[in-house]
Amino acid sequence: MDYDFKKAINSGGIIFTEDTNNKPIGLGLISGGLDSLIACLVLKLQNIEVVGLNFKSPFCICEKAYKNAECGLNLFYDKLGIKTHFLQKEDDYLDIVKNPKFGYGKNLNPCIDCRIYILKKAKKFANQIKADFIFTGEVLDQRPKSQNLKALKIIEKESDLKGKLLRPLSALLLEPTTLEENGLIDRTKLLGIKGRSRKKQLELARSHELLNEYNACGGCLLTEKEFANRMRDYLKFSEHPTMEEVNFLKFGRHFRFNGAKIIVGRNELENNSLLYLKGPDDVIMEALYVKGPLTLIQGKIEEEVIKFAGKLTLRYSDLLESLGKVRYGKDFNELSKSIIIEKATQEELIPYLL
Ligand code: SF4
Repeated sequence: MDYDFKKAINSGGIIFTEDTNNKPIGLGLISGGLDSLIACLVLKLQNIEVVGLNFKSPFCICEKAYKNAECGLNLFYDKLGIKTHFLQKEDDYLDIVKNPKFGYGKNLNPCIDCRIYILKKAKKFANQIKADFIFTGEVLDQRPKSQNLKALKIIEKESDLKGKLLRPLSALLLEPTTLEENGLIDRTKLLGIKGRSRKKQLELARSHELLNEYNACGGCLLTEKEFANRMRDYLKFSEHPTMEEVNFLKFGRHFRFNGAKIIVGRNELENNSLLYLKGPDDVIMEALYVKGPLTLIQGKIEEEVIKFAGKLTLRYSDLLESLGKVRYGKDFNELSKSIIIEKATQEELIPYLL
């Protein structure tokens, strides 16, 4: 059954047929952004059953995408009637962050390898749910490094989806997939969008009453300079990096001193997060008699490290004098050791700041 444009316009919204029998099933990689939304729309309009797949990771800055009804996955649920599944990027993802076959983007973002990684996982998932094909919201030349023609071909080949990966937004500018050739997908109903402008996508979103304005939300911490520095340091010093530990990199001020990591909370929320993430061998420190941060010390904890952590803890506390006292220990409820030390000067801490 075809999409009934007239009925949809008359009802002021989007309507899809209820006939789900024998529809081809497309598994879409959904980020929560405008492009994947329109990729889904384009396929829904040709009566394809669309299932969403979203990948989560500690690198994802996506809370807004989940919360804002005008910007994110809610739209897929509410207006297109799409069920979205969630998968985690696992620890093996860190191998590609550490050593990407196809290099980095502007910071530590291994975008081409990242796409290959998630497409390989999506392929397995597609088999499980018996989806007929996989599609993405990629747009030719929207990103100079990871979405040029060469990169799109590499991604397709390396994820073992050659000729089988549909990009509905730019399909008319790409070679037809086998899906189009064998008639599963109607190529004439696909789009030929290219470049960074989202004008066409927004027009389509508006005309189908999906949204009126689009403010890009979400993002990836690996593209951010400060986080990338911390991540590089983490990968260098950690023998077995884990996604769980990556969460530490999101909170506090980070210092690397004599091989140990010192993290100083910037506010109560960060102090609590550090406490929550603390491992059994990590040491906690806090200033005595004055209000101040919670400091977490990880790695080889020698006397010099404790002293430097003490200087930092006092530096970011309310201490007015130069000399102060800190207490520390592995159990937050029993910080039994203490030292008196001078707070750090800006010059002292800069060489160790990540
Ligand atoms: S920006 Fe981040 S999440 Fe997006 S493709 Fe690149 S590495 Fe992957």
